[in-house]
Amino acid sequence: MSCHLCREALSSRLDGEPLGMPAEELDAHLAGCAGCAAWAAAAERVTRRARLAPAPAVPDLTAAVLGALPRELPGAGAAARARLADSALRVALLVVGAAQATLAWPLLATGAGAMSAPVHMARESGAWNLALAAAFLAVAAGPRLAAGALPFLGSFVAFLLPVTLADLQAGHVHADRALTHLLLLAGTVLVAAVAWRGRRRAALAVAGRPVTA
Ligand SMILES: [Zn+2]
Repeated sequence: MSCHLCREALSSRLDGEPLGMPAEELDAHLAGCAGCAAWAAAAERVTRRARLAPAPAVPDLTAAVLGALPRELPGAGAAARARLADSALRVALLVVGAAQATLAWPLLATGAGAMSAPVHMARESGAWNLALAAAFLAVAAGPRLAAGALPFLGSFVAFLLPVTLADLQAGHVHADRALTHLLLLAGTVLVAAVAWRGRRRAALAVAGRPVTA
């Protein structure tokens, strides 16, 4: 055994750790190597002295430390506000999703109530609207889905809003039917807000700053 390995094992023994070798082997080396025996004796003395030395007196700083602490940990208030904002967004999405589903379901189920559209067109429109409701509800339940839902929701709104405005002007759509599209707009804005907050939080986490956004 090398002296280096022997001294490593001796350190471990002094620290009460596993030797990494049979104790007999270590003792056999010590018995035959004056250098390591002297090293072991010195190490033992140093260790004992360190363990027996009285701890230096330390002034009791408890009161000073506690007094210097801010009343509220930095960021704790911001984190609570961020949680509140997250919850408010999700509840709002839940409400919009539920309202959207309530409007869409009869259309899908019966094909009725879609102005004068043929039954299948009404059902198809119902299916689309119910799918949008499902997307809003899914993001309310799992905010991490927001970014993935955004391309579809955003482009649907981008296409639907201008044609709805044009149809309103031309009298192709009743105002109450057009108003239902505001639910879609509201839901999409909410999903965008959830996605934006998630992105910002991820960016802050990467930057190593406390996540309070
Ligand atoms: Zn040795």
